[in-house]
Amino acid sequence: MEKKNIDWGNIGFGYVQTDYRYVSTYKDGAWDEGGLTTDANIVMNECACVLQYSQSCFEGMKAYTTEDGRIVCFRPDLNAARMVESAERLKMPAFPEEKFLEAIKQTVKANAAWVPPYGSGASLYLRPFMFGWDSIIGVKPANVYQFRVFATPVGPYFKGGVKPLTVRISDFDRAAPRGTGHVKAGLNYAMSLYAIVDAHEKGYDENIYLDSGSRTYIEETGGANVIFIKGNTLVTPKSSTILPSITRRSIVHVAKEYLGMEVEERDVALSEIDQFEECGLCGTAAVISPVGTIDDHGRLIHYAGFGPKIQKLYDTLTGIQMGRIEAPEGWIMEIE
Ligand SMILES: *Cc1c(COP(=O)(O)O)cnc(C)c1O
Repeated sequence: MEKKNIDWGNIGFGYVQTDYRYVSTYKDGAWDEGGLTTDANIVMNECACVLQYSQSCFEGMKAYTTEDGRIVCFRPDLNAARMVESAERLKMPAFPEEKFLEAIKQTVKANAAWVPPYGSGASLYLRPFMFGWDSIIGVKPANVYQFRVFATPVGPYFKGGVKPLTVRISDFDRAAPRGTGHVKAGLNYAMSLYAIVDAHEKGYDENIYLDSGSRTYIEETGGANVIFIKGNTLVTPKSSTILPSITRRSIVHVAKEYLGMEVEERDVALSEIDQFEECGLCGTAAVISPVGTIDDHGRLIHYAGFGPKIQKLYDTLTGIQMGRIEAPEGWIMEIE
């Protein structure tokens, strides 16, 4: 198959329209057969539930080419399961997990020419999403929904070398106790925009949010979980208002089973973060972004950036993804 003529190393992270996307509609209590379309636009009524009341959730994942030339996805079953959780919390119908995997396969196969080659550092980002479609004015869930998956190629995250991040402890909150912080709802992002623009204006790369109940413990950033390293121990915050990152869960497994590290998933107090040697943010986009500095209202805490442990975790997990290191059973779904 002929690849698109793209400078894969320099595409950055922006929307590029690809050839096919998957669409399925839920109506009269059931999802239809679903299938591919070339139409990238959605036409809906001005009173659509998603436009008025933000009834939407999404997922983010990647397809990429392994060392031996296979096109694969990393643990897509966990994205499928997480989307069911998100849908339930937002009173949307679950999109069946088997159908989700089928939709991913169809979308990637149809856009195989857009999957970057091995070694380019680029990948095909996949965005499954779902929204309330019909006209709703009184506050209640929609009756009609669309589930879609589109694909867009994204460049290597650490292009031109790694610059460890400078992040601040945010005065804004991300998630309320017993709220929606643990699901991938669009509304969590809408209300984080103010804080992220403000952070950028003040020279920070990201916000680290505290638990909004007591403002004592570290939670996560707007789109990535946090890990800390102390000696041979990986410490990561545990909280019911953190989004359960698939990357973080995979890193925990790699730390224990591949690297023989100790892992503590527990409350991490803001007051103890100067005890750690390394810090990283984890999510699908970068796998791990090393943190160089946390600024807690002028109290500066410095970390090793890509220190020895975070480097090892990064190399092992990306090695598993790319097929250079044997993956645990079921972690890699082959597309073709
Ligand atoms: C998507 C997301 C992450 C990262 O999850 P991955 O499954 O690792 O990509 C972390 N935090 C938030 C708030 C997110 O929305």
